[in-house]
Amino acid sequence: MAMPEAVPALELIDVQRSYQQGPSELRILRGVNLTVMPGQSVALIAPSGVGKSTLLHTAGLLEKPNGGEVVVSGQPTSDLNDAGRTRLRRNAIGFVYQFHHLQPEFSALENVILPQMIRGLSRSEARRRGEELLTFLGLGERFGHRPNELSGGEQQRVAIARAVANAPHLILADEPTGNLDPGTSDHVFGTLTALVRASGLAALIATHNLDLAARMDRRVTLQDGRIVELD
Ligand code: ADP
Ligand code: MG
Repeated sequence: MAMPEAVPALELIDVQRSYQQGPSELRILRGVNLTVMPGQSVALIAPSGVGKSTLLHTAGLLEKPNGGEVVVSGQPTSDLNDAGRTRLRRNAIGFVYQFHHLQPEFSALENVILPQMIRGLSRSEARRRGEELLTFLGLGERFGHRPNELSGGEQQRVAIARAVANAPHLILADEPTGNLDPGTSDHVFGTLTALVRASGLAALIATHNLDLAARMDRRVTLQDGRIVELD
C-alpha cells in the first residue's frame, strides 16, 4: 500500500514580487518555485540585493506576492485575509533575523516563553518547552540572563529557541549568523541544523557562508528572479 504523501512545510508556486521605484518597476521575484519538506534544511545563497529577504518575507507571510501562491503546511494563502495570514504565521512559522530582536528587559527564558503564551500555551507548558529548547541549544546555565548579559552567539541561540518554540513547521532565517565571528557562527549554525533534524522542522536559511551551507540538505540560489538548485 502506498504511504500517504508528506505535506510540504512550504511551497512557493510561480511567486512574483515587484517594488515600484518611482516610474519604474523592480521585478525581484519573477516566478519562484520552491518546495521544502518537513525535516529538510535548505540554504539560500545569493549576493546582496538579489532578493533573499524579499523571498523570506513573502514566504513568511510578512509581504504579499504580486502573483503566484504561497502554501504553508498545505494551506494556500492568497485568499486569506490579514487575520488569517497572521494566525497561520503565528502557528506555523518562526523567524530568525540577522540581529536577534530579543526583548532587552526580559531574561533568555522569558524571551522564549512569552511568544508561546501569546500563541495560547499555558505558562507552565511554555516554560517546559523553553527550558528544553534552551538546554538543547547549550544554554541550560543561562535561563535568567538578559540579552545584554549574553554573548552574540548566545543571543542568537536564544533567538533560534524563540523561533522554534513558536513554530512547529517552518523556520525562516535571514543571514542568522551574518554578524557573528566565524567560530561562533559555526557553532550557532550547527545547533540550528541539529535542531531542524531532531525536530522534523523545515528550514530555509539565507546565508553568504558556503561552509555553513554545505552542511544543509539542499542549496539553492536566486537567478533572474527564479530559484535554481545548486550542486
Ligand atoms: P537581499 O536580501 O538578497 O540582499 P532584498 O530582498 O533585501 O535583497 O532586496 C532585493 C532588491 O529589492 C534590492 O535591490 C532592494 O533595493 C529592493 N527592495 C527591497 N525592499 C524594497 C522596498 N520596500 N521598496 C523598494 N525596493 C525594495
Ligand atoms: Mg537581505
